[in-house]
Amino acid sequence: MNYHQFLSYLIFSLLICANAVLAQTTETAPPAVDLRMYQIIDDVSAERIEQDIRTLAGFGTRNTMSDTVSDTRGIGAARRWIKAEFDKVSEECGGCLEVFYQHNPTEKGAGSRIVKDVDIVNVVAIQRGTQHPNRMIMMSGDIDSRASDATNYTIDAPGANDNASGMVGTIEAARVLTKYQFPTSIVYAGLAGEEQGLYGGQGLANYAQENNWELLGVLNNDMIGNIEGVDGVIDNRTFRIFSEPVPPTETEQQRRFRRFTGGEVDGISRQLARYVHQMTTTYMPEMNPMMIYRLDRFGRGGHHRPFSDLGFPGIRIMEAHENYNRQHQDIRVENGIEYGDVVEGVNFPYAKKLTAVNATTLAGLGWAPPAPDSVKIGGAVQASTTLAWDMSDAPQLAGYKVYWRETTAPQWTYSRFVDKTDQHTLEGIVIDNFYFGVAAVSKDGNESVVVFPSGLIPRE
Ligand SMILES: [Zn+2]
Repeated sequence: MNYHQFLSYLIFSLLICANAVLAQTTETAPPAVDLRMYQIIDDVSAERIEQDIRTLAGFGTRNTMSDTVSDTRGIGAARRWIKAEFDKVSEECGGCLEVFYQHNPTEKGAGSRIVKDVDIVNVVAIQRGTQHPNRMIMMSGDIDSRASDATNYTIDAPGANDNASGMVGTIEAARVLTKYQFPTSIVYAGLAGEEQGLYGGQGLANYAQENNWELLGVLNNDMIGNIEGVDGVIDNRTFRIFSEPVPPTETEQQRRFRRFTGGEVDGISRQLARYVHQMTTTYMPEMNPMMIYRLDRFGRGGHHRPFSDLGFPGIRIMEAHENYNRQHQDIRVENGIEYGDVVEGVNFPYAKKLTAVNATTLAGLGWAPPAPDSVKIGGAVQASTTLAWDMSDAPQLAGYKVYWRETTAPQWTYSRFVDKTDQHTLEGIVIDNFYFGVAAVSKDGNESVVVFPSGLIPRE
């Protein structure tokens, strides 16, 4: 072999090697990012969000018991406008949304804040999944608002941040995501009766249960537009993700299993919260998501709770620094301090960012394969840990990802892609020192929520 022959032999061999590597990676490993996510983030419009928040605040009050006849003032006008917006979005995608009112007639005295008979009406829009029409991921905001006295339904209560911001973010997410098709259904919901005691959420949670929705989770957006805290902190990057540790529907048997195998910070809502955190750090690394290991703010409530009460995963997404002068307050000036939830208190680019966090999460779960079923774990007194699960036959499935982390770590730290298989052994990883989970991964790189093991692999 002369020098030239050797050189071409060398190049030829290198090409074969490169091809082999290329073939292996393209056949088995999905991409680390889905480039469509960047388009989704860009498409969310701060201008449209501003316009819509002004429209909703412009209805004067959206108190749950306010006027329903007027077309310019009260919750009736507001919900008709919201429904019309969803209808418009649907028209533009060839009727891709099922838009409807979900009614919850409630009698006077049902709670201390229900001072007259009222139909608590939610507005729901479903973008039906192409493969799993009954499997849903939901984003919600609230239609209603309140002033200092929650039962005063005539006084002005613009509720620009609480919670026109979350409601408008939900409509905007629908505008952006209806340009795509998803195997899994996406639900966009406007809920009423929040300020009277979470009535609308309760109504829709019951509706979901009665209609056997396989609800993967609820992203409850409540106040996503304020960047100026009552403590003086101004921060347009940080936001909070509230999630409770374990579901309130946990059985005694599950509780006992958890006591001996771990998982007190790994409930289904917590995994959904981690998913939002991971999507944010992957696609919007300029943002600072803050995991809060709590159902909601200290002693306070939100519309994800009625869903959690029925065993559905639910989290609250919201600003990091609340301004109490601007929520649940009559509009007034007192001792030089301006009170009231007016449009001037909303930062629209920030509301856009939090809407984009939701939109990428909905898209990720919309495109992901079904999460692995019946995840089991084994490996006590061995130098390795094994995870096993039921494999799905979803066409978009590329394989699974085994995750693990140290027991004190808040996020999944380590992962390994394992192809289309129904079990994997992590050699040299001792089960006692880590927590483990499994996610399904699609060919375009979108992952399901991580599933924490709920059973043991029988010892051989
Ligand atoms: Zn409120």
